[in-house]
Order: sequence, then C-alpha cells, then structure tokens
Amino acid sequence: MSTRRRPAPAPPEPPAVPVQLLDWHDGRHFAWPERCVLCRKTTPLRSHDGEAVHKTCAELWNARNPGETRFVSDPPKSGKSKDHA
Ligand SMILES: [Zn+2]
Repeated sequence: MSTRRRPAPAPPEPPAVPVQLLDWHDGRHFAWPERCVLCRKTTPLRSHDGEAVHKTCAELWNARNPGETRFVSDPPKSGKSKDHA
C-alpha cells in the first residue's frame, strides 16, 4: 500500500495585468444614469468621450487592452493650487 500525495491545487491566479486606477474627479464624468457600455448596468459615470461606463469597468478594460487610450485619466491640473490634505 502506498500513499500517493497529490500536489495541492494551485490557487487561481489573478490576472497578470496590473489594473491602473483612473482619476475621474472632473465633473464632466458625471451625468444622468445610463447603461454602462461594458457591463450594461446603469451608471452615472462618463468617459472623456461621453461613453457611459463604470470607472471600474473602464479600468478593467484598460488592463485587458494595453496600449489603448479609450479610457484615460483626467489630465493633472496645472497651477500650484494643489491642496490635497
Ligand atoms: Zn460597468
């Protein structure tokens, strides 16, 4: 009789692509609720192109489509009034 040891099942790997968080603080990213173009649930968020999309959906889309610029962060505010406590 032999006891065969089975290798432990590997845990599911998270996607290798790092998810880059978007900076969508600008007021133009908010509007009336519409269906997200990616997950079809309603969202008040808009991309720079006016596409209704959740920020998390856009971030995931970016991670899966490296090099694309469909969803981008707000440009950094120029000027020195950077009061971020
Ligand atoms: Zn979505």
